[in-house]
Amino acid sequence: MHLHGDILENYAARELAPNTLAEIDAHVSNCLFCAHTLAAETAASASWERRGLLGRLVRD
Ligand SMILES: [Zn+2]
Repeated sequence: MHLHGDILENYAARELAPNTLAEIDAHVSNCLFCAHTLAAETAASASWERRGLLGRLVRD
């Protein structure tokens, strides 16, 4: 099963059971579709974090 939705978000945040993370690690390393999906998700997460940091800087 490919990564999508909550599973994708939780995997990107590493907030899953260790055995589930290991299973997905194995899948992603063999699945170009999921590797691309995960790269897009983590890039989006990083940009959200930067926006959050910027928001804090602006408030300060
Ligand atoms: Zn996949």
